[in-house]
Amino acid sequence: MTKYLVIGDPICHSRSPGMQNAAFEAHGLGRPYGIRHVTPAELPDFFEYARKNLSGVNLTVPHKLQAAVLSDELTSRAAECGSVNTLIISDGHILGDSTDGVGLERALEYCFSESLAGKRILFCGAGGAARATAVHFTHCGVQEISFINRTVAKAGELVDLCHRVDPEITAVCCSPQDTDSVKELLSRADYLIQATSLGLKSDDPPPFPLEWLTSGMKLKIFDTIYHPTPLQKHAASLGIKCCGGKEMLIQQGAESFRLWTGLDAPLDEMRKGFDTGVPGQ
Ligand code: NAP
Repeated sequence: MTKYLVIGDPICHSRSPGMQNAAFEAHGLGRPYGIRHVTPAELPDFFEYARKNLSGVNLTVPHKLQAAVLSDELTSRAAECGSVNTLIISDGHILGDSTDGVGLERALEYCFSESLAGKRILFCGAGGAARATAVHFTHCGVQEISFINRTVAKAGELVDLCHRVDPEITAVCCSPQDTDSVKELLSRADYLIQATSLGLKSDDPPPFPLEWLTSGMKLKIFDTIYHPTPLQKHAASLGIKCCGGKEMLIQQGAESFRLWTGLDAPLDEMRKGFDTGVPGQ
């Protein structure tokens, strides 16, 4: 019986069911995790359905901000970033949490084997994923958090949010059109987090001109997109360490699984479930 769901609009590409059901099966709990297409207009009714029928939900684009408003209660980390990707449901009460930040932190540690303390982080993008993870990073001892984004005003809001959480942190932003500033930020960053949706479609342009990356740069790249994008391929050709988004999905999903069940998340089983699962099933 389905007690957990991932919802989004669109949602048919999701690998969460394969990954989460692998975790439940590893604990002898069957395959209780399903998938449902829910539009923004349907979200309030979905919350009432979930309240009566489900134990947990993962939410993806475009629901994370509205879910923070619809939840009965928020964890402190979800309240801080105003974003919810996990619902924990008990006795009709809906607690909203955000596991994206800790998911990306653990993915970076897994992929690059170092801690974030003292690092300069550069985000490409200022949407929901950048918001939730950047706010989390203000608690990880990083030295700087910067943003390059098409809509500079949205990046400016994230700079203000990071400063509200940690007034001491260095945080700046610029447009991808601002060549000098982008090159300067790229040259001093330890990590570039590609958190725009560019690269999801095969004909998408890169988030900035790829020739601005040069061999010998110290930065490492984490692209939130799972499949190899032109950015990932170009970075690899230059010898720049680069990792795709799979491990972030695994780690944020593992944190959701722990919150729902109180059990250890079997990470290797979840990775296998991601690799062998059919998207959307
Ligand atoms: P979102 O809130 O819709 O934000 C989208 C971002 O992409 C914004 O910064 C937006 O810029 C930018 N963008 C979109 N189209 C663009 C274009 N044509 N040119 C330039 N910039 C463009 O989405 P999100 O939730 O932050 O997700 C962003 C990406 O992260 C998605 O690809 C998603 O799949 C991925 N993600 C992965 C994981 C994982 O576990 N691996 C988890 C969460 C998200 P504007 O502000 O200018 O619109």
